[in-house]
Amino acid sequence: MTPLARKQRPLSEDFPRLIDGGNALDVRELERLRARARRFAEEHVSPRAMEIDRRTDEDPSWFDWDLVRAGAEHGMLSFLIPKPAGGGGGLSTEAAVVMEELCAACPGIALIFGAHALGISPLLLGGPSQWDGVLSELVCSERTTRPLLMACAITEPEAGTDVEDPDLLARARITSHARRVPGGFRLSGAKRFISNGSVARWITLLMPTDPRDPAHTWTCFLVDASSEGFSVNRVEHKMGQRAAHAAELALDEVFVPDERVVSREGDGAAATMIVLACSRPPVGAIATGIARGAYERLLVWLEEDRAAKGLLERQHVQLVLASMEEEIHLARQAYMDAATELDYRALGGAMRHPAVRALGHVPAGIRKRRSVRGLLASDRMRDTTISILHRTTSESAVTRSVALSSMAKARGGDVAMRVTGAALEIVGLRGVRIRAELEKLWRDAKLCQIYEGTNQLNRLEVYRGLCRRETIACLPPLLAHRSAVPPPDAGVGGSREKILAGENGGPR
Ligand SMILES: Cc1cc2nc3c(=O)[nH]c(=O)nc-3n(C[C@H](O)[C@H](O)[C@H](O)COP(=O)(O)OP(=O)(O)OC[C@H]3O[C@@H](n4cnc5c(N)ncnc54)[C@H](O)[C@@H]3O)c2cc1C
Repeated sequence: MTPLARKQRPLSEDFPRLIDGGNALDVRELERLRARARRFAEEHVSPRAMEIDRRTDEDPSWFDWDLVRAGAEHGMLSFLIPKPAGGGGGLSTEAAVVMEELCAACPGIALIFGAHALGISPLLLGGPSQWDGVLSELVCSERTTRPLLMACAITEPEAGTDVEDPDLLARARITSHARRVPGGFRLSGAKRFISNGSVARWITLLMPTDPRDPAHTWTCFLVDASSEGFSVNRVEHKMGQRAAHAAELALDEVFVPDERVVSREGDGAAATMIVLACSRPPVGAIATGIARGAYERLLVWLEEDRAAKGLLERQHVQLVLASMEEEIHLARQAYMDAATELDYRALGGAMRHPAVRALGHVPAGIRKRRSVRGLLASDRMRDTTISILHRTTSESAVTRSVALSSMAKARGGDVAMRVTGAALEIVGLRGVRIRAELEKLWRDAKLCQIYEGTNQLNRLEVYRGLCRRETIACLPPLLAHRSAVPPPDAGVGGSREKILAGENGGPR
């Protein structure tokens, strides 16, 4: 694809709220991350985009590990991993900024890194107990010639939309089942359309421990793809974003030990909501990047290609370009608004909690000692992590954040379709090469309206969270009687209701 032509404005210019809002976001660090993503996009992604799209059309199972290695060299696999585990410590804002850059070059290649980030996100809910296991393994692998990828598997053959909403989950046609056995669980069933599913080493996977009551027993497991009983049924032949595989996975009595249950048994519905709230702003950014990629390619073509001579003088074309600029700007504001809301008002507070930060200062060598590891992986520690989550946010704050994330995702997907379609209409039959590039971006854009919940489901979340101001149960329940972190009024006994009502340290 043609190189990205236009110079980007500083982030602080596009998002004055980042510097004026008095929040702790380090804009310079974000700017450096974006520059790194852009360098990777220009040097490795853009030049390969069209060729990989063609190759994966011929053979959907073809996969470019060289690109993964190049991405790893630019830190694209670890920026979301907490700093104590050796990563960049980013959250939704960082993921979104990276995704826009990569997607302006090639959304399919970007999805490899986006699906990896999606796979990591449930582990963030596991708190410090996850730092010294798979997360630090992922960071170490980034410095080798065999970087490890992750995936997140929620969708089943008979349940897509239904497993992405806690209310629908109760009625979903789920066929998978995690059966309790001594020392862990045995997982059986199938997962469908899993991005990176065929190439990931580790998969965060959601299943009920009682299929008759999925809503209350939906649980997140960390599955090793090299386990006995794990297999890849097929890799889909995709219409767009082809560079990233979408795979159907089969699990036949795959053993997962207790310590690889992420958070706690039964916390999966909340984990799903939190994961989707984290990943929908980046999907809005994916869509914004696609729209930007189409717009920038169109501008270069209009300004430089002889076949486009005279088009820029037409008022109709000027109006279309102005409306593209407008749509892209608003889509970017929407995803950034949703991401910063999530990172600074809804969920990020738990990562910045003094107890979590203090643990982060404990050298990894000490944290990895058997006794300390046992403590970190204990039920008590898992309860404590959830307790911290409740103390740093509230269900109403997370519900609002989910709604804003859904808005950014749905709006972004529609903008990407409109902008790529309008760009194709302006080019018409005039330029063969740019037409092929825009046609690819149009196919790539369609997926943004489908994954991370279809736009219809996302708009229903907007209705519930913003129009009706409902509060959705999207935090794992607080087990106050087992919690090690005393609520602020521990002396008189802080209640779950009070905490949920925001009285005991609501959003900060
Ligand atoms: C290429 C690709 C990659 C993907 N990657 C992943 C991944 O990495 N991990 C993962 O877990 N999943 C992944 N998915 C799955 C994706 O999230 C689902 O496809 C999506 O949630 C929709 O589910 P479905 O396909 O079963 O459609 P369905 O749920 O069958 O929906 C079909 C239609 O009905 C509408 N609909 C359904 N229920 C309702 C309702 N209650 N109210 C209103 N409208 C409704 C939907 O909006 C849609 O238009 C991927 C999908 C694709 C295509």
